[in-house]
Amino acid sequence: MAFELQKLSYSYNALEPYIDAQTMEIHHGKHHAAYTNNLNAAIQGTALEGKTIEEILTNISAHPVAVRNNGGGFYNHNLFWEMMAPGGAKSPEGDLLKAIDTAFGSYQNFKEAFTKAALTRFGSGWAWLVKQGDSLVISSTPNQDNPLMDLAEVKGIPVLGVDVWEHAYYLKYQNRRPDYVDAFFNVVNWDEVARRFKG
Ligand code: MN
Repeated sequence: MAFELQKLSYSYNALEPYIDAQTMEIHHGKHHAAYTNNLNAAIQGTALEGKTIEEILTNISAHPVAVRNNGGGFYNHNLFWEMMAPGGAKSPEGDLLKAIDTAFGSYQNFKEAFTKAALTRFGSGWAWLVKQGDSLVISSTPNQDNPLMDLAEVKGIPVLGVDVWEHAYYLKYQNRRPDYVDAFFNVVNWDEVARRFKG
C-alpha cells in the first residue's frame, strides 16, 4: 500500500486571510503531492515498503537521503495541515497550557521562543514544539527533517510545527517571514496540538 496524499479537512481558502488560498493550493497540491510521490518512488521495491512512516523516520539514518527528504516532507505536511484550522481555539488550555507554563513560564514566553526558532532557522526548515515525556521543548530542523528522526538534534514527538520554507509564505508575504509566523498563530488548531500532547 503506497502512501497517499492526505486530504485537507477544510478548503484551500479556509485559512484566509492568514494563509492565502493560492499558497495552500500549490503547497498541498504540488509540493506535498511531490513529496508523497517521491517517497513512494524511493521505497518501491525496498524493505521499507509496508512500513509506517513513523517506523521509517525513527530509523532514518539507515536510509537513503531521498527517503529522508521525501519521507520527512510527507509526514511534516500531514501534521502541518492538521495543526491549522479555521476558527480553531485561540490559545492552549488545560493540561497543555499547564505544560507550556511549566516549560516556558507563560504562553507569551512560549510564543516568543517558538517564533524565534522559526525566524532564526537559516534557509528552509521547520520550527517545532516537541513533547519529551510529560515535558515540552522547542526546536528547529533543516529541510524536511523532524524530531522523530533518529538523527535530529532534539528528539521527541512533534505536537506543533510551522513550515518556514519560502514556498509556505512567499506568494503572500514575500521576504516577511515574521509576518507569516505571526499570522500562523491565528490559525493554530490548539485542540489538535492538545490531542497530540495527550498522546
Ligand atoms: Mn512545505
